[in-house]
Amino acid sequence: MGKKPLKFNSKVIHGGQQPDCAYGAVMAPIYQTSTYAQSTPGNHKGYEYSRTANPTRTALENALACIENGNYGLAFASGLAAIDAVIKLLQPGDEVLSTNDLYGGSYRLFKQIFERYGIIFKFVGMQNAGNIARHINSKTKLIWVETPTNPMMNIIDIMAISKLAKQYNVLLAVDNTFATPYLQTPLDLGADIVMHSATKYLGGHSDVVVGALIVRNKELAKRLYFIQNASGAICGPMDSFLVLRGIKTLHVRMQRHCENGRAIALFLVKHPKIEKVYYPGLEDHPNHDIAKSQMKDYGGMISFVTKGSSYEDAIALVERLQVFTLAESLGGVESLAGHPASMTHASIPKEEREKSGVVDAMVRLSVGIEDIDDLIADLEQALG
Ligand SMILES: *Cc1c(COP(=O)(O)O)cnc(C)c1O
Repeated sequence: MGKKPLKFNSKVIHGGQQPDCAYGAVMAPIYQTSTYAQSTPGNHKGYEYSRTANPTRTALENALACIENGNYGLAFASGLAAIDAVIKLLQPGDEVLSTNDLYGGSYRLFKQIFERYGIIFKFVGMQNAGNIARHINSKTKLIWVETPTNPMMNIIDIMAISKLAKQYNVLLAVDNTFATPYLQTPLDLGADIVMHSATKYLGGHSDVVVGALIVRNKELAKRLYFIQNASGAICGPMDSFLVLRGIKTLHVRMQRHCENGRAIALFLVKHPKIEKVYYPGLEDHPNHDIAKSQMKDYGGMISFVTKGSSYEDAIALVERLQVFTLAESLGGVESLAGHPASMTHASIPKEEREKSGVVDAMVRLSVGIEDIDDLIADLEQALG
């Protein structure tokens, strides 16, 4: 590539990529191999064993680093494996400060696995960055942020929190799964670590489970590579290829996800059966201004609550949808609908769930890139 840095829409296609050195293949080949021939012991072409490194995974890791404006990328077997690696930077007695409406799987990993190893997790509302400082003490080593949050679509001011993190010498990690680097690049806003469930928008086709970390700092990267190799939850070559292929259309998919998301949010706001719509693009969203300043657009994730609905009513509603598929997950080309209380957030106790607003009547949509008329007609019939 030339000297001038590429724009985002070019980076998703070319970032960190070179034609393969063997035959000039334009797309990184799937190096489905565990090991590599050596001419004499220790003399090899840069790869020894595929847990440590694999050329297809390297191609993905380079692309990840490039699109998030980082220096180092790491690809894992799942988003949770990536989070697991970050928490393994810590020692017993260390504290983690996290958002209170966290992805259910992250919450479960923190509470049910890592608390047993003496790491302490505190969950606080972070929509008002001024609230956070009083929860930081000498044991706090990491702040874990999701924005937009799942499923409340709360927006957290990454730059304000990164200033605090630097002041107290605490690492800041941002789960950027919902936004993707198309909408926001947390490293540019002062975060130390960006994490992805690449299963979602980066892969984009609901055909793979992969996780990612991206950092700028060399020492931090070294420690994470050590953990990745030592613990071994790496992304395989086929899965690396699929995410790499997904990333090449991230910008065009995201553009359509945002367009469709906006149209559906506006449709729901006007619908007589809707009580509340959670979408950061709406002007009455409590942190709309922060969303506007740190995001390029507002994405395709929407949650809503219907008037007077019970747990069963909400389930019946998602069952009536026909174009939207009732399923866990998000970020694929196809539209999905879910019921957080019984699905993604079932592992969080009801009391905890409701404290952060995840009521039984809530429905969450991952708006896909189908024709908007079909999506709105489907919601219309399911609500009617
Ligand atoms: C899905 C998801 C994860 C977990 O990723 P997996 O790839 O399923 O392990 C973490 N954070 C968010 C926001 C997610 O949506």
